[in-house]
Amino acid sequence: MASGLTRRELGRATLAGAALAGLGGAGLLAGCGSGEGEDSAEASKQDVIDRLPSMGIPKPVDYIRTDWSHDPLALCSYSYLAPSRYGSTVRRMLAEPFGRVVIAGEATARIPATVHGAIGAGREVAALVGRELGEEGRVAVIGAGAAGLACAGALEQGGLRPVLIEASGRVGGRVRSGELAGSPVELGASWIHGVEGNPLTDLADAAGVGLHPFGYEPGFPVPGQRALADAGERRLFRAIDSFDPEVPGARLRTVDWLLPYRWGPGLQWAVQNEIAQEYGADADRLAALATWEGGWLGGGDALLDGPYASLLGGLAGNTEIRLDSPVSAIHQGSEGVTVSAAGGEIEADAAVVTVPIGVLKAGTIEFTPQLPARTRTAIETLGAGLLDKVWLAFEEPFWEREVEGFAWIDPRRPGRWGSWVNSVPVNGKPFLLTLSGGGDAHRLARRSDLEVVGGAMAALQSMFAG
Ligand SMILES: Cc1cc2nc3c(=O)[nH]c(=O)nc-3n(C[C@H](O)[C@H](O)[C@H](O)COP(=O)(O)OP(=O)(O)OC[C@H]3O[C@@H](n4cnc5c(N)ncnc54)[C@H](O)[C@@H]3O)c2cc1C
Repeated sequence: MASGLTRRELGRATLAGAALAGLGGAGLLAGCGSGEGEDSAEASKQDVIDRLPSMGIPKPVDYIRTDWSHDPLALCSYSYLAPSRYGSTVRRMLAEPFGRVVIAGEATARIPATVHGAIGAGREVAALVGRELGEEGRVAVIGAGAAGLACAGALEQGGLRPVLIEASGRVGGRVRSGELAGSPVELGASWIHGVEGNPLTDLADAAGVGLHPFGYEPGFPVPGQRALADAGERRLFRAIDSFDPEVPGARLRTVDWLLPYRWGPGLQWAVQNEIAQEYGADADRLAALATWEGGWLGGGDALLDGPYASLLGGLAGNTEIRLDSPVSAIHQGSEGVTVSAAGGEIEADAAVVTVPIGVLKAGTIEFTPQLPARTRTAIETLGAGLLDKVWLAFEEPFWEREVEGFAWIDPRRPGRWGSWVNSVPVNGKPFLLTLSGGGDAHRLARRSDLEVVGGAMAALQSMFAG
């Protein structure tokens, strides 16, 4: 893993400081939710902003926060490898076809928890289905995220007749933008991880979206904190590098088992940034083997200066797409499958299920006959990780305009609100993004907007006021 900030996303969140302790809740704004009640949401957002205490830095003009653990069509941010006797074969177990049905998506990908991994998983499953069905047949693809779109496009190219069945009113799944101060911001995926040999690089080119290299080299506005953070990263990666995946019992080890007994603020910060936010799981939940999963493409990471979802638009070709059609059941018989969705039943020769691991765990879709034991075990065993985002918009940047991001070690809770991404160099917008992962993200998900935005603002105050 790279030194510097976490490769997947930057950031970490903290709750309000003492100045905010007495403020009441303003209700959770689900950044991932529907557009329902936008007027009242707007009103309560302004109320939250108005109630922020004066901190010696400008107040935000808008904010948006995600709530992926409560989004019923995701129920997590992405999968992670939990310790188990199956090790990483659990992902292959999940991808094993059962009769005419097969599960695919980021959780079955060779490079899990990424958009390009999901595209790869979608294309691989399309090849598998094509081999089984030959050049004819109708395939129900459930879920129109990156995996479902890529799968449908590849099936169509192969001469089959896919139909995409999507619960929401849009395609893209966990690639999704929201509106911040009148401009789109990414609520799900933001980065292209490794631009070389990545299908997303060509898709961005085709969509006319620019790529901005991202080096995970944050500034540290508070003197002395860079040295602390560097030392923490060194300790973390030394511990991870010491892990031998071949030793007996390796599959059952968690990352925290590798770490030194005494942590200190630098290591605490590094663990939040590199583990909790990278994988969406805390070190005591994440299998040590997870650090060996995936493999990263070369060329460095990049942020986009246009909507991520526009990269996915063409993936499905001319596939028929049924939106607003949540699937509740999949029945398979000897002749084919029947998919029960809002709006009616769809008959097909095979079905590819690309709903997120959180949705599979929740049992939202009833399978008859029931899923095989190995598939059920895989669903239970894989973790459903959480990464949430807080975006803040300001009138003008009060931070250094050219830095790609900055970091901070909260002395009381190192790692929370620990790193920030600056939008100015990417698209000129005076926006900041900070993130939370794992248990911290679950704790923050239970907090009001006022506490969360107030906490993030208190962190900025510690970095930039006075
Ligand atoms: C906050 C966050 C940050 C991320 N950051 C990055 C990043 O920077 N870079 C990166 O590469 N990856 C990132 N990821 C991961 C990436 O977004 C996912 O790995 C990828 O988008 C998953 O694609 P998928 O097709 O497997 O699943 P999804 O995109 O989730 O698609 C599944 C689809 O199934 C639909 N669905 C659910 N239930 C039903 C049902 N019952 N019936 C019908 N349809 C249903 C959903 O609505 C959804 O459209 C991030 C994810 C999150 C949440």
